Amino acid sequence: MIKLNALITNTSYYCGISYLFRKIFSSKGKFVIMFHGVSKKKNPNLPMDIQPHLDINQFNFILNWIKNSFQILDPDTFMTSQQNGVLLTFDDGFLNNFSNVLPVLETYDAPALFFITTENIEFPEKWLHFITDKLKNYGINKSDLSRDTRKDLFDGISKRNLIKMSSNPLVTIGSHSKTHPLLSQCSNEDLNVEIIRSKKYLESLIKRPVRFFAYPSGDYNQLVLDKVSNSGYEAAFGIDKIENLGRTKFEIPRIGIYSSKKPYLAAKFSGLYQSPIKYLK
Ligand SMILES: [Zn+2]
Repeated sequence: MIKLNALITNTSYYCGISYLFRKIFSSKGKFVIMFHGVSKKKNPNLPMDIQPHLDINQFNFILNWIKNSFQILDPDTFMTSQQNGVLLTFDDGFLNNFSNVLPVLETYDAPALFFITTENIEFPEKWLHFITDKLKNYGINKSDLSRDTRKDLFDGISKRNLIKMSSNPLVTIGSHSKTHPLLSQCSNEDLNVEIIRSKKYLESLIKRPVRFFAYPSGDYNQLVLDKVSNSGYEAAFGIDKIENLGRTKFEIPRIGIYSSKKPYLAAKFSGLYQSPIKYLK
């Protein structure tokens, strides 16, 4: 399936189809892009699938590529205006978003929305469960890794750095829950902690309203959606596939970017992979 996708991606790129569609669609709507961690550089001594998908060079290349075809929108312009373009988002709250991503955004004067998992902030060295699980699968212990590797690849952003980052005019902070669970499996009490308490915690740190939420792993149901929309958030974001419970601004789809290859980018932004967003209900 992966090979077939690559074949279609490459064929449409080299035949100019992706380019054509991008030209048509980029003038007709908006896309939301989802990134995660970005490392300084790939670590050759660690399995690739436990590292961030992108390093700084790749991220730089992607941003340059996006800027050439699209306007990069800040969250307010994205939500309220008819302006076409791309909203950049980053999930999970890694320290490398502050140390590696922010300087590149500043170079391109590109605004972005960062979704923070708050347990990562309170205890930056308490890693997200899916990272710990992946390392365990490879028999790797945290103590096997150097401090620099841990910070570059896996640590959460500290409170101090989050506060610093949030004061940058290019940065908007949103919530990505407290512990990154599958929200559709949570009790009502847990939902209060993950959705409401995470918002309050972030607001008390950064001293401004937290208006946006991103569902961990893109997982939600009607109950979760109602809880988010009744908790003072203005919008919520899914991932590539959304449930489409009502096509509202609490189900905004995003396109995950995991490679910097041109044919891959062209296909993801072609409008064929995901239709551009025309308006938000
Ligand atoms: Zn996440």
